[in-house]
Amino acid sequence: MNETTGQNATEGAVRVRSLFRYLKRYWFWLALAPAAMLLETAMDLMQPALMTDIVDVGVRELRPEVVRATGWRMLLCAALGALGGMACTFVSSRAATGFGNDLRKALFARVQRLSFAQTDRFTAGSLTTRLTNDVMTMQFVVVMLTRMLLRSPFLLVGSVVLVLRTDWRLALPLVLSAPPLAWIVVHWMRRMMPLFAAGQKRTDELSSAMQEALEGIRVVKAFAAEDRVRGSFGARNEALADTGLQSGMLGATLGPALQFVQQVALVAIVFLAAREADAGLVKVGQIAAIVNWSTQVMMSLVMLSFQSMHFSRAMISARRLAEVVCTEPEIRDGPRADPPADASVELRGVSFSYPGASGDPVLRGVDLRVEPGEHVAIVGGTGSGKTTLLSLLPRFYDVTGGAALVGGRDVRDYRLDALRGAMGIVMQNPRLFSGTVAENVRWGRADASDEEVLRVLRIAQADRFVAGFPAGLATDIAQGGTTLSGGQRQRLAIARALLRRPRILLLDDATSAVDPATERALRAALRAEAAGTTVLTVAQRVDSIRDADRIVVLDGGAVAGVGTHDELLASCPTYREIVDSQSTDPREDSLTEAGKEAR
Ligand code: ADP
Repeated sequence: MNETTGQNATEGAVRVRSLFRYLKRYWFWLALAPAAMLLETAMDLMQPALMTDIVDVGVRELRPEVVRATGWRMLLCAALGALGGMACTFVSSRAATGFGNDLRKALFARVQRLSFAQTDRFTAGSLTTRLTNDVMTMQFVVVMLTRMLLRSPFLLVGSVVLVLRTDWRLALPLVLSAPPLAWIVVHWMRRMMPLFAAGQKRTDELSSAMQEALEGIRVVKAFAAEDRVRGSFGARNEALADTGLQSGMLGATLGPALQFVQQVALVAIVFLAAREADAGLVKVGQIAAIVNWSTQVMMSLVMLSFQSMHFSRAMISARRLAEVVCTEPEIRDGPRADPPADASVELRGVSFSYPGASGDPVLRGVDLRVEPGEHVAIVGGTGSGKTTLLSLLPRFYDVTGGAALVGGRDVRDYRLDALRGAMGIVMQNPRLFSGTVAENVRWGRADASDEEVLRVLRIAQADRFVAGFPAGLATDIAQGGTTLSGGQRQRLAIARALLRRPRILLLDDATSAVDPATERALRAALRAEAAGTTVLTVAQRVDSIRDADRIVVLDGGAVAGVGTHDELLASCPTYREIVDSQSTDPREDSLTEAGKEAR
């Protein structure tokens, strides 16, 4: 996430512990894993001791019955060890998968509650990699921790104790090799950690670039910009590969460096052992066992260092996940669960600046009261704050000054579902989802009957084109509604919003791609069929909102005039300018003509 994500997230970064709550549920499996692992490791430790019996008693004293009996015991140990190993892997995988699953669910739920500003700051690409890569890293580390992290120290301590018990002098090289090994690991980790962090960041960037390129694939093709997109994707891909190469190269040095120290220690042990055997202080079988145990000590050390590497890597992921889990939604529920008492809307001295934005506020001292059932249109130049004004009502953003009221209450008093449940919202460039036409419209209300769906389609002037589809309501729509025209998509989105039976309908330039005649028919149908619904419409085309009860003119974030079309023509220069600019637009005229013809 960007550095600017705010107080919540900064605290979240240190609250990695908050992730443990998702692990606690699996305590039973987590407790079983070390038990099974202990069985496996104990069996591993016993093998060299049994081997000693075979060599020193069975072979040297020529007692085949000892070889046979010990051989059977070794087999039994191997079988028990394998059983322990399997059980341990099974239970630790069970815990890790459950943990990963719960964590992903919790993260997804949290992401959905974040405000627009918060998700923008995280970026969709980073949230995607957090929910996938980072959770997987955590899952892996849970398996590793339950299975390997205990096994290695146990094997290490057990082997050292057994070597000491057999011949303490031969343990000396082992003890002496510990400091250089530790130095190598610490030094290596210091260089590796920044590379890991950079790798995660670059994966985020790559994922964002990929997402953007795929979502905007039509624009890319329209501009024949494949090379350009490939170039920017390629650059990020290279950057990621570069980090991967650096960590790969560094990774390649760790194993050989550790092995070199180990080999030196092993040679020292064998050298010492040979001298002791000459002096009759130690038997051949014992030497074999000691070499075996020493190898296990070394192996455990190597394992431990790799585990600490994975662990550190997982800590980076854990921090990134905790950041999301601990980010409190900026827009939170208010206390009131009941819906607004009426469909009135009011802005009282509202000012607003986008979070993190500098410069003049986007809205300044906006006062406006809309009565229940009133149809109010908002017009103004591009960037005058029309969309922003609408987005304050469902609390996509909270006002930074003054208050927005719905049903006579501050919008912050309502629970979000109560507030938004009373509204039907159609945004600019509405998004449809993969599924049938009916399924898409039923996003508005899942239990609506077919008649209701057809009714709202009629109001939205979408019934005829839907009837023209091969499968009618059951026609499949591609993700994002890309198989429909812009105007069709907008009308389906209006139908979807109407199905909620909203008391307040917010239309943000929602008919910009609909021809003027159809748009007029739609407005007339809205008046007739959704009487009592308050409608706030943001419009570019003045022609389309002439019949609004009142028109609000925004200029540079402030209200420049309120009134009917005729009143504003007489009193508001900004409005006159807008009207003049549009009536001289030849394209607009021809559109209107086309609309008349269509009618
Ligand atoms: P309109 O709908 O009238 O064209 P908007 O309400 O969309 O205008 O935008 C008003 C101003 O707010 C513009 O200057 C725009 O750049 C800025 N703006 C819009 N959305 C954001 C955002 N998410 N973050 C920061 N600034 C924004």
